Parts: sequence; structure tokens; C-alpha cells
Amino acid sequence: MNCISKRVDALSESSTMAMNQKTKDLQAQGVKVVNLSVGEPDFFTPDHIKEAAVKAIGDNYSFYSPTPGYMDLRQAVADKFKKENGLDYTPQQIVVSNGAKHALANAIMSLVDDGDEVIVPAPYWVTYTELVKYAGGVSVVIRTTLENNYKMTPEELRAAITPKTKALILCSPSNPTGSVYSRTELKALVDVLADFPSVFVISDEIYEYINFVGRHESIAQFPGMPERTVVINGVSKGYAMTGWRIGYLAAPLWLAKACNKFQGQFTSGPSSISQRAALCALVSDKQFTEEMTVAFRRRRDFVTEGLKKIPGIKLHKPDGAFYVFPDVSAYYGKSDGDITIGNDNDLCMYLLNVAHVATVAGTGFGEPNCIRLSYATSDENLRTAIRSLQETFARLK
Ligand code: PMP
Ligand code: GLU
Repeated sequence: MNCISKRVDALSESSTMAMNQKTKDLQAQGVKVVNLSVGEPDFFTPDHIKEAAVKAIGDNYSFYSPTPGYMDLRQAVADKFKKENGLDYTPQQIVVSNGAKHALANAIMSLVDDGDEVIVPAPYWVTYTELVKYAGGVSVVIRTTLENNYKMTPEELRAAITPKTKALILCSPSNPTGSVYSRTELKALVDVLADFPSVFVISDEIYEYINFVGRHESIAQFPGMPERTVVINGVSKGYAMTGWRIGYLAAPLWLAKACNKFQGQFTSGPSSISQRAALCALVSDKQFTEEMTVAFRRRRDFVTEGLKKIPGIKLHKPDGAFYVFPDVSAYYGKSDGDITIGNDNDLCMYLLNVAHVATVAGTGFGEPNCIRLSYATSDENLRTAIRSLQETFARLK
């Protein structure tokens, strides 16, 4: 019997997670694959954060936490927003969840009604459009261009807004493109939004610290924006804590309350032990994060230089996060004499099977001309991967 609900049936599988699993399965069979599919720091969580979790176990943090997270953690999140982003939130406006993905789900489920339009600039992170669909909304995709470093222009935003527009999802630094909106670019978008006061903004800032061009800029920092923005963030990327599952959001009180209500019925508060570890991460200095970002920058340079040497590949140098998103469409229709590459999915499978390098097809990110590579892995892995990719692309004529 199969009586899966229409809503879940309609969801696409997360292509990042699916490719990661496929790679892990191959690796378990003994195939040496360099995994550039899933995006997560290859660094271990710093010792002082791990020790905070061990202490929490000893201190019997074994009970349910408050649904939106412990008060001291929410206070630490509010303090972080004040100190680092100049944003004023009370702890009541913070909801701590099972990762930033869960925070996004809370926000989208609490905002989007049937038929509501949500503007999603492409390339977008694979989960946005699926969550909007699950909520009954309709994603209005703006296809941005390589020439504009995959950033949406104010004109494109204005043209996409209709009376049905409920929200805009922004991601800066971006997964998958690594593009970072400058303060001036954000201001230009805010100026458009000023003409449409009912449009809400969901600002995904999970890659805040992995920024190679300077200070992080949040769209919530502009006058009038905190009242109409939910900021999504968490400890997964900046502190190498993907498996701990702690993310958070900051929102106007009415929305934070709605997310709290939804989370209270859906999951309750996230892991008590992980919350104590996240508190330690937030109040400690940024030395680890800064060192990790230096490594990502070096790897970004290596990978972009290596990919640029492959004829036909077009890419811009990412300013943040830990992905490159090259346009590989020049290879569609090419063949090694045996296998013909029709599209991004074919190419990713070819690279997996022949180059033994796992990547993710661009289609899931709304840009089928591209594929995504995560460079959050060791320098040695990256050297192996780039060499192998150069050889493998050369077979396709
Ligand atoms: N937003 C973006 C853009 C991401 O890349 C990720 C990483 N998967 C998330 C949100 C979710 O992060 P988390 O692991 O904290 O759920
Ligand atoms: N952010 C990572 C990625 O995009 C994690 C995978 C996921 O959560 O989908 O690869």
C-alpha cells in the first residue's frame, strides 16, 4: 500500500543530501571518491565547544528545554545581533531550532498561505522552493546572470512583485553561488521594497562569517526593515557544528511567537546538549572561525584557478560561503565516444563515475547550466579533484 500525502509526494528530494548519500555509499564499497557534494566544513568542532557539551551532560541537561531554546542562549543570540550586526532584538524575538533549515521551515510555514507568491532569486538553495511548495505557496523565480555575479538587480525585484507577493528570500553570502550583496546593493533592494510595504523578507545569513570581502551586511539593518524581516542564522557553518543541529531566527515578535507555537507542536526545543554547546560557541572569540575562513579563502583561490583552466567553463570568483558554481553548459551535447552528456545531471553522474568527484547538479538550485562544487574539504582532496576534473573534462569532445 502507498498512501503518501500529496504534499509530501510533491516534494523533491534534497539533491545535496541525495548526492552526499550516493557518494557515501560508493565510498563504503571501497571506491575512492572526493566528495565535493554536500556543503559542510571539514573542520572538527573546536574543543572548548565540545567540552561545554560534555559538561552539560554531567550537569544533567537532560530535560526538555523551553520550546524556543534556553533563555541564556536566546540572550546570547540577541547579544550577538547587537554586537555584530547592530540589530536590536529581545530574547523573546529569538527562536532556536534544529538547524537553520528548521528555522527556515518555521518561518515559511508561519508566513506563507495557499497561493501566496514568494520571490526566490535563482540560483537558490535547494530547500527554499520546496518549503514554499509544502506551505502551499508559489515560488516566483528570478533567474539572475553570471554577468551580474548571480545577484538580483532592483529592477528585477520590482518586476517580480505582484499583489500576491508575500515574501522575498535572500541568501547572502549565497549557497550555491558564493555571491555577497554589498551594503549599496542591499540598499537599492530596500528602496524597491519601500514601495511594497506588505512584502516580507526572509534573509538567510548562515554563511555570515565565511565572507572574503569584508563585513557582513544584513538587510535587516536598514530603517524599517527589522519589522518586516526574519533573519536566519545558526552555528552549523561558522563553528563547524553541522551535526549538532542548532540554528536560530530573529523576527518581529508576532512572527517569533508563531514560530514558537509551530515548533511547540512540531519538534519541541532542539537538543538540550547542543544548545549548551551553541551557547559556548556564541560567547567565545572568533579565532577558530577566522582561521577556518582563511583556509576556505585559500581553497577558493585554488579551485577557481583550477576550474578556469578547463576550456569552456565559465565562472565568477565567489566572495563568500564555500561553493563554486561554474557554468558547464558548453559540455552539454559532448561525448567521450561512448557516453554523451545531455545535461547537468548527466555531467554530475559522469564526473562521479569517471573522475570520482562528487558534485551537485544545478537544476536543484534553479540553474541547469551549472554544477556546484563545495570546496570545504582538505587541500589534498581538492588537488586530487581538480586534477581529475581537468583530465575528465578533456575526454569530452
Ligand atoms: N541555508 C543555507 C543557504 C544552507 O546552505 C544551509 C546548509 N545546509 C542551511 C540553510 C541549513 O543549515 P543547517 O545545517 O543549520 O540546518
Ligand atoms: N548546506 C549544505 C548544502 O547545501 C547542506 C546540505 C543540506 O542541508 O541540504 O550542501
